[in-house]
This record gives sequence, structure tokens and C-alpha cells, in this order.
Amino acid sequence: MTINGLKIGGGAPVRVESMLKSRLTDLAACVGETERLRDAGCELARVALPDSALAPAFASLVRESRLTLMADIHFDHRLALAAIEAGCPSVRINPGNMSGAARLADVVAAAKERGVVIRIGANGGSLGNSQLERCGGDRGAALVLAVEEQLRPLLDMDFTRIIISAKSSSIAETVRANAILAGRYPFPLHIGVTEAGNGNSGVVKGAAGISMMLAQGIGDTLRVSLTAPGEEEVETGYNILKALGLRSRGWELVSCPTCGRRRVEVAELVERLKKILPPSAASGLTVAVMGCEVNGPKEAAGADLGVAGCPDGFIVFKKGAFLCRGSMDVFEEIVRREINSILNHKK
Ligand code: SF4
Repeated sequence: MTINGLKIGGGAPVRVESMLKSRLTDLAACVGETERLRDAGCELARVALPDSALAPAFASLVRESRLTLMADIHFDHRLALAAIEAGCPSVRINPGNMSGAARLADVVAAAKERGVVIRIGANGGSLGNSQLERCGGDRGAALVLAVEEQLRPLLDMDFTRIIISAKSSSIAETVRANAILAGRYPFPLHIGVTEAGNGNSGVVKGAAGISMMLAQGIGDTLRVSLTAPGEEEVETGYNILKALGLRSRGWELVSCPTCGRRRVEVAELVERLKKILPPSAASGLTVAVMGCEVNGPKEAAGADLGVAGCPDGFIVFKKGAFLCRGSMDVFEEIVRREINSILNHKK
């Protein structure tokens, strides 16, 4: 399946998504946010369209955005129609709250005509009592049931350009629901853990849940939901994919945790390195920053390029073998030179 040329599922790389945090009342902020997300590597961003008064602003955003968008619609089918009319290539709806088959049929007809993808999905927070009762209180199974209740009317209308999602703030429920859905349906799965939170605990919770699914081969597109700028969601998404060896973006950092043998402050050196190598540079290379020359080169022998502290500055090593040394005041100059040499060699 493709959205605006972006292939999702069917063996394509797992896609990294986010959602705009800016409101459509501030169009310039929305456009700026799409640019920042795009620079961070975001491939698809959802945009909340909560009110028909915002439809013109949404249409402008669709025209101006260089990032592929998905309209996020609840309740009012006319908003979904407006989003499709504006040229948005994908919409996220809940067919169950569109009050009536005729209204949903209008949305499906418009989506068919324009080749629009519809994402449906259930959220743990909105499970009804009857769904829970029918599943004997099994919230994972109830999530699946809630997805199937949304799926059925679309399939009855012969609509199959569908992405499905089942999310909850409980990792166990989310993983269980997605495992069942992946076994039952051929549609791409959007995965994530809702309301993961912020800071380190939010990152860990999102990463733990998403990794459990990806490790089982489940998930075609992901969002790490964080109470933080969307760029952080995207960076975390790529870091999960990198850690699992599923995708690479930019260079990969390996650094030691430091100990009493360290000759340099590793955290400071990592920051200096990040200034020389922006995330998009040196794509695919592993760069190591190690605290000492005694163990560093051996511990990071797999790195394409590594630096390690030594009594009078630092040494540079490549795949564990010594390359050169220098004092800290020439750190940037030497690292840049060696990275360029590796990149030129690769061409
Ligand atoms: S590389 Fe050196 S400083 Fe870093 S953890 Fe290993 S021994 Fe300690």
C-alpha cells in the first residue's frame, strides 16, 4: 500500500510517524512543525482536524506541507470529506462514531475515488463495557473486537486501503491485541503504546512495547507517543529501529558508560562529536566515543571510527586498530578529516 508514494507494509521498511502538536489555528506553526519533523526523518504525520472552521487552514497545510499527512477525524464525517477534498492522502477515522452507515459510505466513496488510505483503530481508553463483557474482561481481546467492529463496515463496502491500529497504555494489552490482529488480517499495522508519558520513562515504555511487537515481526509503521516535541518521537522511533537492526538513519553512536579509568569526560566528547556530525551525516557509520585508550579500542572494535581518551588528549582508531592521536584542541579537525576519509573511501 502507498500513501503519497510512501510504501507501507508488504516488506517496506517500518515507517516512522508522528503527530503535529501545533493547532491549525496557527498555520505557520503547523508548516514549521512539518518541516522540523521532515528534517528529523518523519515520514507521515497526523494532523487533528477537530472543527469545520479549520478546514481551510487544513487545506492550506496540505498544499504547503512537504511531509505526507494524515487527517485525524472524530465524529463528523464532513471533516473527513473536507480532508479528502483538500487532497489529503490519508485519514484516520472511527467508523463507529460517524453516526450512520450512509455517512460512512460517503467517506468511503470519496476515499475510493481519490485513492485515499483510511486508518482505523481502537484505543484502550475508549473500550466500552459491552466490548469488555463480551471478552470476559480480557482487554487485549476487547481491543481486537473494537478494531473488528470498525473494520467490518469498511470491508462490507469493499474498501481495503486500510491501516489498522490497536493501542493501549498497557504494553501487555497492546502486544496481545496486535499479535491477534497480525495473525488475522493482511492490512498494515500501525503500532505504538498510548500515553507513554515523558522523559526517560516515556521513552522506555514506548520502546519496550514497540520492540516487543517488532521483534515478533509485527508492525509496519510506528509512532512513539511522547509528551515531548514530535522530533523526539521520531528520533526515538529511529533509535528503536536501529537498535533492532531494522533501519539505519544517520550515524550510530557507541559510547562507554565510563569508569575510574577514563581519561576524558565521555559525555562532553559525545556532545562535541554531535556538533561535527549532524544526525543526517555519515549515514550508516558507527562512531565510538570511549573513555580510555586501554580498553576503548577493544570494547568498540566494531566501530567504523572511534575516539578514546589518553593522557595527553585522544587517540583515533578504526575497527579497533590505532590510526592517530591528537590533543583536545584539534579534536574537531581530526575527527572531521578521518570521517571524510572514510566516506570518500566508500564512494
Ligand atoms: S572504555 Fe575505559 S573508561 Fe570506558 S568503561 Fe571501558 S575501561 Fe572504563
